[in-house]
Amino acid sequence: MKQKPKKDRYLKPCPFCGNAFPVIRPSAVCVSLSIIKIYCPTCDTYFMLGSHGGNEYSEEKTVAAWNRRAEKEEN
Ligand SMILES: [Zn+2]
Repeated sequence: MKQKPKKDRYLKPCPFCGNAFPVIRPSAVCVSLSIIKIYCPTCDTYFMLGSHGGNEYSEEKTVAAWNRRAEKEEN
């Protein structure tokens, strides 16, 4: 059986440097809005969604965008 630690969930390796352990960093912008950032400590890159619509900042969507980017680099 493969063990999947909850921590790195569905995050793919960094599309910029290949680091397999990027981290998710929630950061509060104001009381009602928080942005999810994905940070790669190896190449010091922050990744976040820049859209201003509704729930675009959700962790799920940010991770999905990160993974799409990672997949592009793989091909
Ligand atoms: Zn990186």
